[in-house]
Amino acid sequence: MPKVFLIMLDGVSADTFRSHHSRLPFLSRLAAGGFSVERLRSLVPGISLPGRTSILTGRGAAEAGVYGNNVWHDTRFSYADPDDVRVPTLPRLALAAGLDVACVGFGMVRPEDATVFKRPWWADNFVQRARDDVGEPAQGAWRRAADHVDPTGRLIAAATAAGYPADYPERFPDRRIYAFSGDMHVANWVGLLAAADPAPDFVLTEFLVTDSVQHSHGFDTEASLWALGYLDALVGVTLGRLGERAAEYNFVILSDHGHWHVQKALRPEAILPGMQADCQGAMLHVKVDSAADEARATAALAEHGVVPYDPSYLPEDHRAFLRSYLAPDGFSFESGPSELPVTEPKNISSHGLRPGHPADDRFMFMSGPDVPTGTVAMADADQVAPTVAQLLGIATGVFPGRSLLV
Ligand SMILES: [Zn+2]
Repeated sequence: MPKVFLIMLDGVSADTFRSHHSRLPFLSRLAAGGFSVERLRSLVPGISLPGRTSILTGRGAAEAGVYGNNVWHDTRFSYADPDDVRVPTLPRLALAAGLDVACVGFGMVRPEDATVFKRPWWADNFVQRARDDVGEPAQGAWRRAADHVDPTGRLIAAATAAGYPADYPERFPDRRIYAFSGDMHVANWVGLLAAADPAPDFVLTEFLVTDSVQHSHGFDTEASLWALGYLDALVGVTLGRLGERAAEYNFVILSDHGHWHVQKALRPEAILPGMQADCQGAMLHVKVDSAADEARATAALAEHGVVPYDPSYLPEDHRAFLRSYLAPDGFSFESGPSELPVTEPKNISSHGLRPGHPADDRFMFMSGPDVPTGTVAMADADQVAPTVAQLLGIATGVFPGRSLLV
């Protein structure tokens, strides 16, 4: 039976991967002889949780429901959670087709949609990734993910058999080091689990620190390339744990979006005082209650070169009360109190750029027994899910996009 091992590395652009592949011995070796997508376009907006959702569903935010790391929940913007995903996901479809599905640390999967499920390290009682100053209390599916006890016991058994810790450590104060530790545990567990019997048919996992380090240390800086090298080494850890079983898997390795330099930050709390607005890179979502609200927001943002953006990528029911705006190149929106409308950026590199911006293109490659040798110059976000479905041998007709392997 065909098997798929999907690894998502957060925020690694097509250009970074191409320019620095010589620093990435494990990824380069895995890619050799496989199928390479030189540029995989990002979803609109090119942001983490919509990017994951697109990988899982093959659909854009208008249908899949996740249009930012935060979405509107009743009275405010808060972290999108797996229950916000409105269409079936690859793990759910694979499970329904009778496959054995292991989700280890991959965001936006409901715990009940995998045979073996381990939450992301950044979602326990609070959802807090390395770059978040404060966490959000876990709600909905994040709460279920945090409380989930794997009924199969397979991950704990595989870790214990290797003498490896079977759970994440308690959070410790340096959340950046905690993030590196979290990615390391995921890399070990996912390899140990898939090396044990029975080997899952479909494995999904993600490593995250590349995104956080680029935000704070800049695009393609030595510090950020060190983080990328660390994730390459973690891919090596996973392959080492897998051992000879790696040969049974078709690997699908990709990122959720790209990254690029940010020169200045636009601060909605100063530009739109009293309004609820949510920053998603160069895109801003604003809650409007009236035409006057909208006119006020549009006028205030226009003073900073920010223009309205076609909201057709938003789910139809949210288009009724949300407006979308786009910052000029080089600018990114940042939340938090500010008296000044424009400040130096806290995140000196970011994603969710102008839609179609080449710096938001990400890398992708596949390799394994059922993957032909090949290269395509460009692929669209909606082609990932049908490609994975084809490799798994499950129905591809539910996805609007075309598999890369047709
Ligand atoms: Zn991301």
